[in-house]
Amino acid sequence: MTKYIVVTGGVLSGLGKGITTSSIGTLLKARGFSVTAVKIDPYLNSDAGTMNPFEHGEVFVLQDGGEADLDLGNYERFLDIPLGRDNNITTGKVFKTVIDKERRGDYLGKTVQIVPHITNEIRDWIKRVAKKSGADICLVEVGGTVGDIESAPFLEGIRQLHREVGHENLFLIHTSLVPVVGAVGEQKTKPTQHTVRDLKSIGLHPDMIVCRSAQPLHPEIREKIASFCDVPESGVVSAHDAKSIYEVPLILEEQGVVDTITKRLGLPTLKPDLESWRDLVDRLLNPSHEVTVAFVGKYTDLSDSYLSINEALRHAGASLDTKVRISYIEGEALETNDADAWRNLREADAILVGPGFGSRGTEGKIRAVQHARESEVPFLGICLGFQLAIVEYARNVAHLKGANSTEMDVNAAHPVICVLPEQYEIQELGGTMRLGAYECVLNEGSLAHETYGSLVISERHRHRYEMNPDYIAQLEKKGLIFSGRMPDRPIMEMMELPRHIHPYFIGGQFHPEFNSRPQKPGPLFVGLVQAALVAKGVLAHGPEPVAAA
Ligand code: GLN
Repeated sequence: MTKYIVVTGGVLSGLGKGITTSSIGTLLKARGFSVTAVKIDPYLNSDAGTMNPFEHGEVFVLQDGGEADLDLGNYERFLDIPLGRDNNITTGKVFKTVIDKERRGDYLGKTVQIVPHITNEIRDWIKRVAKKSGADICLVEVGGTVGDIESAPFLEGIRQLHREVGHENLFLIHTSLVPVVGAVGEQKTKPTQHTVRDLKSIGLHPDMIVCRSAQPLHPEIREKIASFCDVPESGVVSAHDAKSIYEVPLILEEQGVVDTITKRLGLPTLKPDLESWRDLVDRLLNPSHEVTVAFVGKYTDLSDSYLSINEALRHAGASLDTKVRISYIEGEALETNDADAWRNLREADAILVGPGFGSRGTEGKIRAVQHARESEVPFLGICLGFQLAIVEYARNVAHLKGANSTEMDVNAAHPVICVLPEQYEIQELGGTMRLGAYECVLNEGSLAHETYGSLVISERHRHRYEMNPDYIAQLEKKGLIFSGRMPDRPIMEMMELPRHIHPYFIGGQFHPEFNSRPQKPGPLFVGLVQAALVAKGVLAHGPEPVAAA
């Protein structure tokens, strides 16, 4: 029988529910329990794929091509388990399922309603995912805030789930805010009292309250919350500010959070193995070296829009005992010759040009590539960054005047990047890109091969455009190397420059950030940080040459 741990949120959004959920999962896994996780997003979009990352944060791509909320990325990074599109439930998906059933006649004769049809669907969906995973414990995070109209059907679904699986099989955690107001610096419990009252009014009684606060909770405050909200004192948890998100599991462990949960769920009390996690946090918090990576993008005002890349750079840094400082640079600012932007680019130890859609800022990104190539600054191009590196090479080395991606200029004189053939007929924009994990075969002895240490890799994708096969030979003749391809189609997946020309100039059509884990950093990011350390004289050499197979 799967046990459920449900995490709800109160007071306001952005309290780090996702990190709390992921951290608890990490602590369970460290005890040998198997876990899976479900994220509920109470919006009408079917998935996050059509949402603006500037508003909502990045779209996280799953192995199966599901486009999900960024919390799924946190789950995968913390738990190191692959999740699929069914692990992200949205209002849109639930309504679509119910409406499709209604049209099929599955409810013939019935009036189809939010309660019970939508709520049953929610409950069943969660149970289905838990069952399919075979995990000991299924974590369920309900997005939004208790009291919102949007999340009401989901909370009712949770109430039903609790009733059905039984109290001994479901543990409810409510996250809240404990602010400090005024000069006295007193931690205030009223918002928590109110949100717990809201939760109880819909029939949900929390077993644990995780309190976000700047400083650790005072013992009297803990006691007060326990008594007013009717939870044991061991069920009031302090989730105070941490220097790194990866420190949160350790903060929760100190307070015996998981022992409280397992005891209540009738699971054995086990000792966690957190040695490597502690080591990771230590490396993250006390690095010996520092490098600055210029990250040229579009949504740089909101760093959540590139969350997985930021994290991947941190993972790579931790593996090399290095703090990676990210200097965000707007592509547009480089176009308008903004002095600060150019200074930041020139001062960086490495340059990353990231993913993106549409033409805004692309000319600036192309200039960033040119600077990286000509000044021999370590460079990584991801997806659009890979495509623009090809455009830059076509224009400035192969002298193909007017080379561009047809995404930016449909009438480009040299369309070196063009739409994938399977995209010609596609009308709808949601979920129709080339999405998810695909294999890629690398050239033996290439920089890509050295960096990955293997000849066949699998990375996740999210794109509509590709390297135009008509230009491959021409660019290769001019020295560009296509070092990775799809095995059964002429899709160019990786490009690079020879090492005698440039120390580290590499790009991928895929998104290596989605597979990067704190303890298994994405090889391309490790290569970038390593090359930056070599350029700074900290390391003697970059990726080790791989012996021919
Ligand atoms: N806009 C480009 C494409 O669709 C790149 C996409 C991306 O960077 N994710 O191919």
